[in-house]
Amino acid sequence: MLCHDVKRVVYFFLDGTLDERRNDDFKHHIDACADCEARIIVHRRIRVFLRKRLTPLPAPDHLKQRLVRTLRAVAE
Ligand SMILES: [Zn+2]
Repeated sequence: MLCHDVKRVVYFFLDGTLDERRNDDFKHHIDACADCEARIIVHRRIRVFLRKRLTPLPAPDHLKQRLVRTLRAVAE
């Protein structure tokens, strides 16, 4: 996995939705790449900040399904 691959799938990694092979590739890359490791740390902090500050609202099922399809197509 290369840096640009990490950027494309970072949200899947943080959500725990990467398949096992991609998840392992992702971890190997960020263990060896300081830039991507730093990027992941920033993304994690942003997620924690947003979870603390925002009240979650449920998204309609059709929107969730469309988002998942779109994000998966972008990641492939
Ligand atoms: Zn990298």
